[in-house]
Amino acid sequence: MPPEQAANVLPTYARYDLTLTRGEGVWLYDLKGERYLDFVAGIAVVALGHCHPEVTKAAHEQLDRLWHTSNLYWTEPMMELASRLGARIGGGQAFFCNSGAESIEAGLKYARKATGKSGVIALEQSFHGRTFGALSATGQPSKQAGFGPLVPDVRFAQINDAESLAAAAADDNVACVLLEPIQGEGGINAATKDFLASAAELARATGALLFFDEVQTGVGRTGSYFAFEQLGVKPDIVGLAKGLANGLPIGALVVSDDAPRGFEAGDHASTFGGNPTACAAGCAVDDALTPELLQSVQSVGKQLRDGLAKLPAVQDVRGRGLLIGCELDRPAAPVIAECMERGLLLCPAGENVLRLSPPLIVEPAHAEQAIETLRGVLA
Ligand SMILES: *Cc1c(COP(=O)(O)O)cnc(C)c1O
Repeated sequence: MPPEQAANVLPTYARYDLTLTRGEGVWLYDLKGERYLDFVAGIAVVALGHCHPEVTKAAHEQLDRLWHTSNLYWTEPMMELASRLGARIGGGQAFFCNSGAESIEAGLKYARKATGKSGVIALEQSFHGRTFGALSATGQPSKQAGFGPLVPDVRFAQINDAESLAAAAADDNVACVLLEPIQGEGGINAATKDFLASAAELARATGALLFFDEVQTGVGRTGSYFAFEQLGVKPDIVGLAKGLANGLPIGALVVSDDAPRGFEAGDHASTFGGNPTACAAGCAVDDALTPELLQSVQSVGKQLRDGLAKLPAVQDVRGRGLLIGCELDRPAAPVIAECMERGLLLCPAGENVLRLSPPLIVEPAHAEQAIETLRGVLA
C-alpha cells in the first residue's frame, strides 16, 4: 500500500509501491532496509551514482557559501559550467534552466527568433517534455490528448525516413528540425547516421536550425559526452538536462558558435536558472566524465546488450552505451514488477520495452547480476 500521506499528492504518476530512503553508488535502500540494484538511475539522471562523494562535496560547499542570486548578477559556478559546456560542443554558449522541458522551450524560442520562421519539424514517437511547447513537439497523441489547442506549426515526420522530413519542410518556413539522436521514452529508437545527415542537410538548405534533444542521451549516457559525437553530425543547438548535475534540477540550452545568433538581453529568462549549487554539482559531474569513464560506459553497455540478446523472451536489443532498450515478446510491466521483487529496478520505454539506464559508474559485476536476475524472471 502507498504511504498514508500519498493522498495529498496529485495523481499524475502511477508510482510503484516502493518508498526509497537512501542511496549509495548503484544501490538504493527502501523503508525496510531492502537493497535494490538501480538500473533506472532516476531515469538516466543519477549519472555518477547516488551520493557520489565529489559531487556531494561540491554541492555542500556551494550550499554553505551561496545558494541563489538571480540572474541579475554573475556567479562563478554558472560561468564555469557554461564554459565547460561551450568547450564540450567545440565552442558555444549556454542558457541555464531547471529541466529538460525548459531546455526544449528555450531552444524552440531561440530557433524562431534566430530564423524568423515558425515551423518546427519533430518526429513521431518523440518525447520532449510536458510544457506546452515541448508537448506540442512530442509525437505521442496520448500525451497531448485533452490539452489542446497546442502550439501551432509543428509538423511530424517519421524517424529514419528522409522523404517524410523533406515533405514536412515543403513550405520552407522551418525554424528548426528537432530530434532525439536516440528516442528515449518512445522506445529507445536510434536515428541512423544517414537520416541524421539528411536532417542536417535539410536544415542547411532551408535555413532551419538543427536542434538535438540530448536531455536523455547527453552527458556521457551513450559513451560520448553528446550522442551526436558518434553519429557524424553536429547540431546548431542542443538541449541537456537529466544527467547534468547528477540529480539536482538543472537544464541547459547549448548553442554552438557556428549557429546563427538568436537571443538578446530580455528575450528569455529563468529565475532559478544557473542556480549556483546545481551548477557547482554540474562542474563536479563534468570533472568525473573522463575518457576512461566514457570508455567503460561503452564496454559495460556492450556487455549488457550481448547478455540481454541471449535471454529468453527478448526480441530485440537497442541503444548505445548505457541507454538500452530490450524489447520483449510480452508486456514489460509485470517483468519490471518481478525484477523489483528480486532487487533490481528497471523502467519501461513503451509497452513491451524494458529500459536499462544504470548509473554510468556501473561495473561489469553489476551488469552480470542484472542479466542473471532478468534470466530468472524471463525463464
Ligand atoms: C526526460 C526528457 C525530457 C523532459 O525532461 P523534464 O526534465 O522531465 O522536463 C525531454 N526530452 C527528453 C529526450 C527526455 O528524455
